[in-house]
Amino acid sequence: MLQRPVPWPNDAKVACAITLDMDADSLVHIHHGENALTKLCTTSMLQYGPKVAIPRILDTFERYGMKQSFFIPAWCIQNYPHTVEAIVKAGHEIGFHGYIHEAPNQLSADQEQHWMGRSIEIIEKHTGQRPRGNRAPLYHMSDQTPDLLVKEGFVYDSSLMGDEVPYILKTTAGELVELPVSWATDDWPPYVHCADLDYQFQIMPPERAMEIFMAEFEALRAHPGGLWIGVWHPFVSGRLSRWMRVEKMIDYMAQTGDVWFATMEEIARHVQSVRADGSYDARVDTLPYYSENQVPTELQGKA
Ligand SMILES: [Zn+2]
Repeated sequence: MLQRPVPWPNDAKVACAITLDMDADSLVHIHHGENALTKLCTTSMLQYGPKVAIPRILDTFERYGMKQSFFIPAWCIQNYPHTVEAIVKAGHEIGFHGYIHEAPNQLSADQEQHWMGRSIEIIEKHTGQRPRGNRAPLYHMSDQTPDLLVKEGFVYDSSLMGDEVPYILKTTAGELVELPVSWATDDWPPYVHCADLDYQFQIMPPERAMEIFMAEFEALRAHPGGLWIGVWHPFVSGRLSRWMRVEKMIDYMAQTGDVWFATMEEIARHVQSVRADGSYDARVDTLPYYSENQVPTELQGKA
């Protein structure tokens, strides 16, 4: 049922990446500016990520011998340098996730280019490497983001939702591997409840949240060649009850023998290599999808 199943290493059925978007309190600042200074509860809730959850998450990954990918706004890297140092020292990948979680599609072309460049410098300074991957804050990629990523030498993006297998984004500047995500494996809908962030979902118990995440996994196991990406947040999924359930999930996934746990960079580079040796014919999306308004004048605004 997958049109273009990827031949994963060692005949694995599913490539799995547990990605952690460490937004920390960038979220309260970008949403509230000066008013953020008096929002102590939300600040504390978000600081739980770097202060409490990340050490717990790193400990789990070390015990399981796993390397994974963390997407971190550059402002967070500057404000939590020791947390980031621990992530890097453990051998995990750091990807680009905005400067302070601003939405790329709210910026002018010049602004987006400026803040991407500045963030890359900060990432390079703190991790010793330029980022290879991007996840747009809140998935708010702009129509020029793919072009900019190609020009800055990125290998992959992980902000779009167009498939269950990787595909190629082709722009006039070149190509990127897209590692697509889904709201079905994002921890925001089942867990986040915070008026200051304009999200007030009913909180689900970890067992139910995991049912949603694992439904995606089991479908991919039944139809080999796909990609399962957890888009999780340390302050959300790193809470004790939820993270205990994540460890059970990792145990289960590992014992199936069907999984390739990898960093996002490893997955993207594998896709590049099977394309290069001719063993995989990837879907290619040529961008931009549209360059002008598709709605006839008299139908505009009639949604
Ligand atoms: Zn984020």
